[in-house]
Amino acid sequence: MYRLACVHCAATYPADQIVYTCSRCGHLLAVQYELDTIAIDRSRWHRRPLSVWRYRELLPVKREPVTLQEGGTPLYHLKRLGEELGLPHLYAKHEGMNPSGSFKDRGMTVGVSMALELGMSQVACASTGNTSASLSQYAAKAGIPAIVLLPAGKVALGKIAQALMHGAKVISIRGNFDRALEMVHELCISHGIYLLNSVNPFRLEGQKTIGYEVVDQLEGVPDRFVLPVGNAGNISAVHKGLNELRTLGLIDTLPMMTGVQASGSAPIVRAVHEELPEVIPEKNPETVATAIRIGAPVNAEKALVAIRATGGTATSVSDDEILRMQRDLARMEGIGVEPASAASVAGIRRLVEEGQIDRDERIVCVVTGHLLKDPETVIAQCAPPCEIDADISLLLSALSS
Ligand SMILES: *Cc1c(COP(=O)(O)O)cnc(C)c1O
Ligand SMILES: [Zn+2]
Repeated sequence: MYRLACVHCAATYPADQIVYTCSRCGHLLAVQYELDTIAIDRSRWHRRPLSVWRYRELLPVKREPVTLQEGGTPLYHLKRLGEELGLPHLYAKHEGMNPSGSFKDRGMTVGVSMALELGMSQVACASTGNTSASLSQYAAKAGIPAIVLLPAGKVALGKIAQALMHGAKVISIRGNFDRALEMVHELCISHGIYLLNSVNPFRLEGQKTIGYEVVDQLEGVPDRFVLPVGNAGNISAVHKGLNELRTLGLIDTLPMMTGVQASGSAPIVRAVHEELPEVIPEKNPETVATAIRIGAPVNAEKALVAIRATGGTATSVSDDEILRMQRDLARMEGIGVEPASAASVAGIRRLVEEGQIDRDERIVCVVTGHLLKDPETVIAQCAPPCEIDADISLLLSALSS
């Protein structure tokens, strides 16, 4: 049993009402379970495969879910990078290993399942790329049409390829992501289309399972959870999920929630450092990490609570620091991620340099999307292959040069 509760005022809404923000005060909603009526049998969880649906007692979906077997992603110990940084317990949760190549799939399996459960026959989102790739894929699986709005010229190639191939109606808006989101929100309200941006509280329910999987994989709670922050949905989701585990008595502590933004797009970092009650939107966000190129984070209110309530922090990193960490993860650890994903680990490098990290901490960085999402940024950083005639002596001299 659950209802939707406003995170700001006391208003609540029934589970089956299609509502994205509080009609009384305009703030965000969250799924609120009657946790004292939910019995969790951990050994039953452990008999199910590591995946989003292992945790179905803490998810809102009652029907057979629309699933592509999302979640169950690897948690890698970053041995060589950790040695370099002086952090023996540094881990990366590789969310690029999901069906569409990003953590968005965890939200979409729940969000698209809820669309069907609520009787909706069309879905839509605005996206910096990965949300559209994921929604297109899950709408295809569900057999319903999807509409996606993208900021023109600012979406990585692999993500557009996915949205197009899976059959979404793809519209490029001459404007930034924040504007595209306003437009799709308006379209969904006026035309009865189901909105699957992270303002949708059900999507975050799926994403919270990143935290559950980490607790199962580490057999305990890490000291710190580090996420790249765009719309701030994911950091909020992981915090909400772990908070529920604590209320249920399944864990005793919460990790320090730590958000990392690109320096050209860092309204949350600013709000944390200046102790502002709310974020001041960045009008012209800019960064090579297009997945976090967001100036007005929709879930800022939830994210600030997550960071402040757990003694966490936020930091920003330059595009150069992001790209350097993308290369380091690729070359030192064999982990291929897109630029936004490298931001979490780059943020840890920055915090270590600033002396803000205890070296004994057990730290989990979420790396959010796969290397192949953004091949153009990769190619631009690497020397092209050396082309030779098909001759063995030329091969040998090419290898020795
Ligand atoms: C969506 C996304 C983010 C940002 O997540 P938010 O929930 O918007 O903060 C970070 N990295 C990648 C690869 C993403 O696709
Ligand atoms: Zn309210």
